[in-house]
Amino acid sequence: MMHETDVLIVGAGPVGMLTALTLAQGGASVRVLEKEPHIINSPRAAVYFPSTLIILQELGILDELLEIGFTNRTFGTHIPEFDYHSVVETEPVEGIPYDYQLHAGQHDVARVAMEHARKLGVEVLFGHEVTGFAEDEGGITVSASGQDFRAKWLIGADGARSTVRKLAGIEFEGHTWPERFVATNVKFPFQELGYQQANFVCDPVNMAVIAQLDREGVWRCTYMEDSALPVEGCEERIHQRYEWFMQGREDYEIVSFSPYMLHQRAGETLRKGRVLLAGDAAHATNPCGGLGLTSGVWTGVVLADVLGAVLRGEESEEILDRFSDERRRVFWDVVSPAATENKRMLQESDPEQRRQDMQHLRALNDNPESGALLMLFAYKVIGDVLRPDSRWADADPSAHVAIDIGNRQGQIY
Ligand SMILES: Cc1cc2nc3c(=O)[nH]c(=O)nc-3n(C[C@H](O)[C@H](O)[C@H](O)COP(=O)(O)OP(=O)(O)OC[C@H]3O[C@@H](n4cnc5c(N)ncnc54)[C@H](O)[C@@H]3O)c2cc1C
Repeated sequence: MMHETDVLIVGAGPVGMLTALTLAQGGASVRVLEKEPHIINSPRAAVYFPSTLIILQELGILDELLEIGFTNRTFGTHIPEFDYHSVVETEPVEGIPYDYQLHAGQHDVARVAMEHARKLGVEVLFGHEVTGFAEDEGGITVSASGQDFRAKWLIGADGARSTVRKLAGIEFEGHTWPERFVATNVKFPFQELGYQQANFVCDPVNMAVIAQLDREGVWRCTYMEDSALPVEGCEERIHQRYEWFMQGREDYEIVSFSPYMLHQRAGETLRKGRVLLAGDAAHATNPCGGLGLTSGVWTGVVLADVLGAVLRGEESEEILDRFSDERRRVFWDVVSPAATENKRMLQESDPEQRRQDMQHLRALNDNPESGALLMLFAYKVIGDVLRPDSRWADADPSAHVAIDIGNRQGQIY
């Protein structure tokens, strides 16, 4: 058996690696087990709001990611049926450190976090699939690819289909949507057709989220299709759907694509004995509005802070139960309703409701604070960080800002 570590993390995704880095910076010894031979590079989360930038800055990796990705301040909403196109620009707000969003692939975030974590002694083992664990009074023994690993605590950051969560017998409460989303990465100059660097396209058939991914002109175009359609014909159908989004132009190049199912689900608890959950393993949402990773990384870094305090003897284990309660509250009260409302608006089929949505959008556009409102919403995912001495205690600046975000349901209104 390998030497024991304080924490064993399953999954070298963005949440696993940011959690590992945070724990290591707090003095914990950490090992990460990842089943794939390398960090997964399929089309997934790409937009980071100011609430995530706070984490990246505090962990010392923001500058590096700004070199890789790029910053965006404009958000477009399009309702083609009414020929309605609005643009909201984020603006500096006193007391808020960022007035932009970072666009970068989540594999870059995971990779940069891993490089920094390794420098602090974090061991990341690829090609190690976790298949079982046994807990005892002193710790937990985890089996992966024929080897045993010992740790005091186990964190499942192994995605929505989490093996750790299933092995722990934690139910994933909530529902899975009937639609399938298809995330495509494509080289195409969307800006020539009036798209902003990030866009909602509201349409009952051709809803889409379109955002620029890099400076080389690769964009993300995610759309919805009937999940009864066979996955096999997906690539062929992409060309049919592009015809609409790209208004008949054919000068595009598909880089990659990934069909996936959507959920609104959270673990019935995020702590069972020595097992803890973070990221999509803890709670999974549909990606409309980019709140999945946005909330998942906060669950990871709050967990790293409270677990670090338990390991140092500064807190009793009871704080881990409060972590579970608070992160579930943030998910069910903030994240899931907002993402659900964003999804509804994007694909609304009732003509009267669509007209009302447009009126709301017009009113928002006329509101001089719309840019600030758009940015401030994501701070709601921070929630209570549970300790006055927490590294994240002063992370949420929105409480000191003289703008009331009220009872906003989604990010747009
Ligand atoms: C196609 C797609 C598009 C998305 N787009 C967006 C978006 O635009 N905005 C947004 O906010 N969110 C988006 N999401 C959601 C976002 O990608 C997730 O919230 C994010 O990946 C969660 O990160 P994570 O680290 O928790 O889990 P993951 O990124 O899923 O990482 C889990 C890791 O665990 C590993 N693993 C799994 N099982 C085991 C095991 N038994 N042993 C060892 N390792 C294991 C996996 O290989 C993987 O590397 C999208 C998701 C998908 C699928």
